[in-house]
Amino acid sequence: MSSCINQNGNFKVESDSVTYTDEAIISDYSYETTLVEGNTVKPVTTKMQFKTERNVGQTGVMLVGMGGNNGTTCIAGAIANKLGLTWETKDGTQKANYFGSLLLASTVKLGNDPQGNSVYTPMNNMLPLLNPNDIVWGGWDINGANLGDAMKRAKVLDHDLQTKLYPHMKDITPLPSIYFPEFIAANQSERADNILKGTKQEQLEQVRKDIRDFKREHGLDQVIVLWTANTERFSSVDKGINDTAENLIRSIDMGESEVSASTIFAVASILEGSTFINGSPQNTFVPGVIDLARQEKVFIAGDDFKSGQTKMKSVMVDFLVSAGIKPTSIVSYNHLGNNDGKNLSAPSQFRSKEISKSNVVDDMVASNRILFEENERPDHVVVIKYVPYVGDSKRAMDEYTSEIFMGGKNTIVMHNTCEDSLLATPLIYDLVILGDLCKRVQIKKDDESEWESFHPVLSLLSYMLKAPLVPNGAPVVNALFTQRCAVINFMRACLGLAPDNHMTLEHRFE
Ligand code: NAD
Repeated sequence: MSSCINQNGNFKVESDSVTYTDEAIISDYSYETTLVEGNTVKPVTTKMQFKTERNVGQTGVMLVGMGGNNGTTCIAGAIANKLGLTWETKDGTQKANYFGSLLLASTVKLGNDPQGNSVYTPMNNMLPLLNPNDIVWGGWDINGANLGDAMKRAKVLDHDLQTKLYPHMKDITPLPSIYFPEFIAANQSERADNILKGTKQEQLEQVRKDIRDFKREHGLDQVIVLWTANTERFSSVDKGINDTAENLIRSIDMGESEVSASTIFAVASILEGSTFINGSPQNTFVPGVIDLARQEKVFIAGDDFKSGQTKMKSVMVDFLVSAGIKPTSIVSYNHLGNNDGKNLSAPSQFRSKEISKSNVVDDMVASNRILFEENERPDHVVVIKYVPYVGDSKRAMDEYTSEIFMGGKNTIVMHNTCEDSLLATPLIYDLVILGDLCKRVQIKKDDESEWESFHPVLSLLSYMLKAPLVPNGAPVVNALFTQRCAVINFMRACLGLAPDNHMTLEHRFE
């Protein structure tokens, strides 16, 4: 009888196709794909090498919106873990953990032991990865509250934990930030007491200087910038304004009104060589930003943390469609009472969220022409309401109606209650950890002589994102377990290990 074993210690791959040096892990890999041309299907093997730099440098993360619910919970969570804090709750003693993080709290199947038992290992055991306990945290907020007070205002963490963290948080203060009131809800204006003055160009220069200063003051090898500030309205994409890198840079210089704060942060990060990740739904990555990232060869990833309802949806619809069941109506209601909810109660900020949430089932629906005709989609409605009393404890209610065998109907209803920021924060750690890993991996195809880095648009981070940004022309994948498999099999490739094919033939024949 087979069972599961957990392998926690470091392991080393023993194989002719893997070399470990002090600096890197180099693997030879056969990338197997299938080419379909009309009615002809051909297996294709591409020989390639992966090189993973082993040294995880000293990393700083600068959060835009660090005084918000996610920002404070993220920094507080890393401090609590680093210090190994415990605290009292009505259910007993709780200790700090990284639950909810794909990379820090999930395991992957490594292989089988000689008896045929499955052997699992923590995902962060696969390759040398950044540890959030070692990150130097900093950032900006339009509100000047110190992080101790901001953490209390967020009302996310247990009171006893807040008390223990307060001395470690109270001296961290956000840098003044860029505030364009026309991009976020008017109800946010009372928060804006810590803002940068000057023209758009001067603000861009200041943010660039902030990144450089932070890097120098803390002796960092790299800084990653992540937007977890308020959702902005979409900016309009206009020819000559933000359609190319050159035009965007000129528009900032000319103080063009359609350039948002998040876009200026993205441009500043790219110009400083810092990976930029967008955790909110707005179109920060106008074509000019993507163009600039390509020119400068700097990584960007987004958009919008996939934390609760949408994560569930990207599992549920994948399950239904791949089970041959036809979802015909998906209706999602949310209510929440935190500052994010307050901001989203304004129509144009809600619209950003609605767009981000609405395309999440497209790839799954398009994959099955037995169930759906070309251009046919389920009815899909998303409603978000602001209810102050529930605070950060967001409620999400979903109704999935599907057609089943012989015209039958099936309705599944879900009610999800959860502290919003306790779902989102582990995704921030994952985005940063995976973003760093992508920077340390290069590939070389057999017929090429140069090592090649990832495309600047890091689609491998899609698991954590509601509306994944992908390189131009690449397919968008929303299905959660497909996204997860991509991460795991990529890590396996870095070690010269075949993808986990789940065939377990060793248990199926005598
Ligand atoms: P929040 O309102 O508590 O925090 C946002 C912070 O950003 C505030 O402190 C605000 O003062 C600050 N801010 C606003 N504009 C700024 C600017 N231009 N520069 C610097 N700071 C600025 O919100 P939150 O709950 O922490 O969520 C943050 C973002 O993450 C929102 O856009 C939200 O839609 C997105 N998001 C959250 C979740 C989740 O919490 N589960 C999921 C997906 C996406």
